[in-house]
Amino acid sequence: MRQLHKLIDGHKKFKNSTFENYKSEFQALAKDGQKPKVLFIGCSDSRVSPDLIVRSRPGDMFIVRNIGNFVPPYKLNHDFHGTTAVIEYAVSVLKVEDIIVCGHSHCGACEALYDDSIATDKNLTNVSKWLELGEEAKQNATALCQDNKDKLLETTEKESVKLQLKRLMTYPAIIQLVKDDKLQIHGWYYDIHSGHIYDYDKKHERFEELR
Ligand SMILES: [Zn+2]
Repeated sequence: MRQLHKLIDGHKKFKNSTFENYKSEFQALAKDGQKPKVLFIGCSDSRVSPDLIVRSRPGDMFIVRNIGNFVPPYKLNHDFHGTTAVIEYAVSVLKVEDIIVCGHSHCGACEALYDDSIATDKNLTNVSKWLELGEEAKQNATALCQDNKDKLLETTEKESVKLQLKRLMTYPAIIQLVKDDKLQIHGWYYDIHSGHIYDYDKKHERFEELR
């Protein structure tokens, strides 16, 4: 069966069963609008499904997913800044209280940082440019870990989460809200193999299992 047919089939089940069971909840969201208190910045990777791994419900999280769960540095110009616009809206209009940057194991974006062929591939011009947002993580990881390829990738993924947290702090509105204690930012690392999530402990500079 083609994937698309599976999705259409899934929608029929959603419409006839899930939606019916939670009808009042969905209709209240339609009537009252959304008031999510969390912004989730995750990877586009199909294996990292935000609502599934934290069992959140419609209305709970404002979500942006991109290649590598990268945060572009704050920039004011007339270009199109998708992820930046999401962050601005979440912080200034929705007034989220928490931002989660969620990296993950087996991340193709972090692995691609070590693949030189992408830079010369004419079909991947935008991907190559976007991957520059992980370059500093690659440099940090390479300095920390040189032997094992798997360990290097894991280190890159975790260094990247830390790097994206640092970039969030280039947004003037975020700087102010964090200072006023109205916003907290969190760095998570989701392990696809075990299903566990690790939270970056800024004080001890290490990832600890979420509890
Ligand atoms: Zn990824």
